[in-house]
Amino acid sequence: MLEPLNRVVLFLSPRPGRDLEFLQKGELIRSYPHLRRDLRRLGAAAVLAELAGELASPPEAAAPIFAALEEALARLEDGLPPDSLLVSFALHFLKLGGYGFHLATCGLCGQEPSPPLAFSIPRGGVVCGACRPQAPSPLADLSPGTWKFLRQAQEMPRDRLSRLALPAWQRDQSLVLIRAFLRHHLALELKSWSFWEKVAIERPP
Ligand SMILES: [Zn+2]
Repeated sequence: MLEPLNRVVLFLSPRPGRDLEFLQKGELIRSYPHLRRDLRRLGAAAVLAELAGELASPPEAAAPIFAALEEALARLEDGLPPDSLLVSFALHFLKLGGYGFHLATCGLCGQEPSPPLAFSIPRGGVVCGACRPQAPSPLADLSPGTWKFLRQAQEMPRDRLSRLALPAWQRDQSLVLIRAFLRHHLALELKSWSFWEKVAIERPP
């Protein structure tokens, strides 16, 4: 019951004078057996679960973030490919946690951004080619296609996120900037990144 990614209800009883409580019993609400048998889907689920836990510290953010996590795990369990799900749900969690990216306009000039685009990690948003030399660094590369995907994913309601698709190189470009953003703004390095990187490359059967 206490395996990672299971949803459970735990019944605790207090121990007088101690910080920790007794675990009386637990009930399994939902598990994800198919997801667990596929390393790529498991890797994406591990990153999303860890990110959700880290971002859910303000109580008002916890309920929507865990509802979104449950949706992501359900779609992975259904067999949807993990690449676009990982990126789009990570972005959705960041928005719910109050760390939404600024993607609609260039963060410096305020115009519709024209290429070559970049993503300013300190600004948490897109900058246009003309503003790029003055933009706060570090900067991450951002192709027009990746920018469009991130913008759609951030604006889209949760129940439609699983319809988005992106190629592997755009997935990697997105994950590089999400990872740098978490490091810069939250001093956060997820333990599950290294597992994801080991399993991310799809190998021929
Ligand atoms: Zn600009």
